[in-house]
Order: sequence, then structure tokens, then C-alpha cells
Amino acid sequence: MNNQKKIPKSFEAMYKFSEAYAKRTGTYFCLDFSVTAVVIEGLSSHKDIYGSPLCPCRHYDDKSKEVLNSYWNCPCVPMRERKECHCMLFLKEENEFASKYQQISLDNLIDHIK
Ligand code: SF4
Repeated sequence: MNNQKKIPKSFEAMYKFSEAYAKRTGTYFCLDFSVTAVVIEGLSSHKDIYGSPLCPCRHYDDKSKEVLNSYWNCPCVPMRERKECHCMLFLKEENEFASKYQQISLDNLIDHIK
């Protein structure tokens, strides 16, 4: 499918970060690329609105405060300390939902966002 959608700069930035970080940590993207796409979209949207890629998979009473707290800014503390990503953006090799991929084409990713 030819993709004519305009890709926001922040999405591209978070996409590049995700590939680099997966390689650096030896983690893999989810078998279901729509998970990867939605998480990256959530991170980039938070980066646009709040200035930091606050984890999109949690509820916060006050997102601006959470950004200042920095614990859940991606990569969050659980990921940095224990390679635990509850969003399933970065999965350990042994995880049953882990693909073999640390790279995805940008078009492929965009196609998974409706
Ligand atoms: Fe990033 Fe942590 Fe959220 Fe995973 S759980 S997307 S590493 S902030």
C-alpha cells in the first residue's frame, strides 16, 4: 500500500529511537506490529504535548507532573533497570510475543495506525 500520509517529525523521532534502543538493549518488537505502532504513536503524541515521551500505557492524574517526575519517561526506570516494558514495545527474546525484529520499515508501521 502506498503511503501518502504525512508523518509527524515526532513519530519519526520516536520510531528511530525505538529501533536504536531495541538494538542497544537486545530486545525485540512485538509479533503484532500494530502494538508497536500504537505505542510509538502514543509516545510521540506525549512528546509533542508535554515535551517528553511519557509512557502511553498508564493512567496519570497529572501528565505534566509525571513528566517532571521522569520515572515514566521512555525508556522508563523499569525498562532501564530490568528490561521490563509493560507496553510491549521492547520485548525480551524469550517473551512469547517477541518477533525477531529490531527494525521495521516506517511505511509498515504507519500502515498499522488507522
Ligand atoms: Fe517506554 Fe517503559 Fe512505556 Fe515501555 S513501559 S514504552 S520502555 S515507558
